[in-house]
Amino acid sequence: MKKVTTVCPYCGAGCKLNLVVDNGKIIRAEAANGVTNQGELCLKGYYGWDFLNDTKLLTPRLTQPLIRRQRGGKFEAVSWDEAIRYTAQRLKEIKQKHGPRAIMTTGSSRGTGNETNYVMQKFARAVIGTNNVDCCARVCHGPSVAGLQATLGNGAMSNSIGDIENSKCLLVIGYNCADSHPIVARRVIKAKEKGAQIIVCDPRRIETARIADQHLQIRNGCNMALVNAFAHVLMEEDLYDHDYVAKYTEGFEEYRKNVADYSPEAVAEQTGVSAQQIRQAMRTYAAAPSATIMWGMGVTQFGQAVDVVKGLAGLALLTGNLGRANVGVGPVRGQNNVQGACDMGVLPNEFPGYQSVTDPKVRAKFADAWGIDVDQMDPEVGHRITEIPHLAIEGKVKAYYIMGEDPLQTEADLGLVRKGFEALEFVVVQDIFMTKTAEQADVILPATSWGEHGGVFSCADRGFQRFEKAIEPKYNVKRDWEIISLLATEMGYPMHYNDNQQIWDEMRSLCPLFYGATYEKMGELGHVQWPCTTLESPGTQYLYADNHFDTPSGKGQLFAAPWRAPAEVPDGDYPLVLCTVREVGHYSCRSMTGNCAALQTLADEPGFVQMNPVDAQALGIRDQQLVWVASRRGKVISRVNYNERINLGAVYMTYQWWIGACNELTQDNLDPISKTPETKYCAVKVEQI
Ligand code: SF4
Repeated sequence: MKKVTTVCPYCGAGCKLNLVVDNGKIIRAEAANGVTNQGELCLKGYYGWDFLNDTKLLTPRLTQPLIRRQRGGKFEAVSWDEAIRYTAQRLKEIKQKHGPRAIMTTGSSRGTGNETNYVMQKFARAVIGTNNVDCCARVCHGPSVAGLQATLGNGAMSNSIGDIENSKCLLVIGYNCADSHPIVARRVIKAKEKGAQIIVCDPRRIETARIADQHLQIRNGCNMALVNAFAHVLMEEDLYDHDYVAKYTEGFEEYRKNVADYSPEAVAEQTGVSAQQIRQAMRTYAAAPSATIMWGMGVTQFGQAVDVVKGLAGLALLTGNLGRANVGVGPVRGQNNVQGACDMGVLPNEFPGYQSVTDPKVRAKFADAWGIDVDQMDPEVGHRITEIPHLAIEGKVKAYYIMGEDPLQTEADLGLVRKGFEALEFVVVQDIFMTKTAEQADVILPATSWGEHGGVFSCADRGFQRFEKAIEPKYNVKRDWEIISLLATEMGYPMHYNDNQQIWDEMRSLCPLFYGATYEKMGELGHVQWPCTTLESPGTQYLYADNHFDTPSGKGQLFAAPWRAPAEVPDGDYPLVLCTVREVGHYSCRSMTGNCAALQTLADEPGFVQMNPVDAQALGIRDQQLVWVASRRGKVISRVNYNERINLGAVYMTYQWWIGACNELTQDNLDPISKTPETKYCAVKVEQI
């Protein structure tokens, strides 16, 4: 029997755990004493390993390479040699005929690790010759990255998960941490126990709202109006830090003008939050000796999300709540390695280490290191994954190489996504399970899973942590970066790595932000937060320590924009708002957690729709009744769960089930900057069957 200390693969909290292995099988998980989890785990951490032992798999594990030579035909098992040869040949043909920008690739924000993401973006840029590489940050915290980069200079949490419990005020907006990051929710509870004021802005009476000192039960789709009203109060009541604003920010007068019309009284009816509540929230936030703002996808999955993120950064700048311990802004990243996928340049606009693809010096540096002519590097920003359905239908994208993502379940407006897939000439899926997307692939490349390989993850607070291999893979599968390297070599670009560390060290040598985060240091400290620019540095607990922001001028940028309505608002035909959420027992599209016996038992029934009993009874619908939920794009069967914590006029469904898949209903109104879809808001109706 042995114990392997590793990192949980299920959310950005980055909890450390021990996998106890006996005779090649995992028999249990135990909490380890990681920097972020301090010896605690949530139920996914305790029970999310079962699929590695092959017990009761609902979704088949991919065990060998498969090719489908004709659409609609059957998959045929092939050797690795043949799968690599066939895939390389098809990609080369498409590149030759349609150009490199006709090929799209994804990295993965899940258990593959940072090394694999580095290799995947290198494959896109050096082998294909395109910046068409993206990840699921596009559909979750993409607006946080864009909004924070524009206002503060870095698109990540400015603070640390460990800081949260020592803050004296937590403003939690659009973030149900109890379901999405239970161990972060523990920090919120600890902060409360230590005397912090908790302010929650959320349409639902979520778990955190139950312990909050103030719950602002905002109407769905009104975030910008509320955030502007917050800024208005800080200025009107003279609650802001004049000295900090004068020394460290820019744009104050324009900002003041832009929020002038957003008095609490002016927005009270629209937002559903009284003027008194709005004023009290800002009096509490501004008076606290240390205050932190935390948000999730209740902020980012809207068509105006980047503006709202900029507005939230503005509140922190106005009050000087940046650049020291226990304060800051915290977009808490969802999937376990979505921060890492961004860190590693699985983004269409940035190389690893957030270095712009449009900067000729940066392109030259990477071309030199990768041994290619700089003219082979794509000088333009690449496609985003949310643009692919449209680009495929228009004939501009022909091939899609998808690693560890399941767009045919997790993206908005699945009818549109399916049409996009039908228009593609060639789809390669590299994954561990036969997902909805894998079912539509032309080639399937089976990879090792978390538990069967090691590497480095980045947790939500910029912390690099090493995770370890616990068991040997049982099937004819390969490591993700090994598969990509074989493809690169077959396509004429020899790519050979011996191990993870060799990849990591190549990456570090090209990324000043991460240069000092060596394998040895991660081994010694357990958790190394970037920036870590020198071999001596232990990493950075919080950003902007000297109130110098990483913007072109070095100053924080104040910003406010007028509120815009969501793209599709309820009307007589579709009178309710649909908001997509997640459930605590499952992770993303459930391909891993759905194959764990304990989590199957603990989780809710598939495809439920949460409704306030008042709304349901007005439609004559009983609790637990089967219903149709329909939008202008489709309809699904679902079972009603009465829930008095749900606000009137809205219903909530998780995107995690393919039965009652709510993305059949959602719409793809994209934020104009981040191209993130508005999956938190569309109009639906609920009807009896
Ligand atoms: Fe920790 Fe998140 Fe894993 Fe739960 S799912 S154990 S909170 S990392």
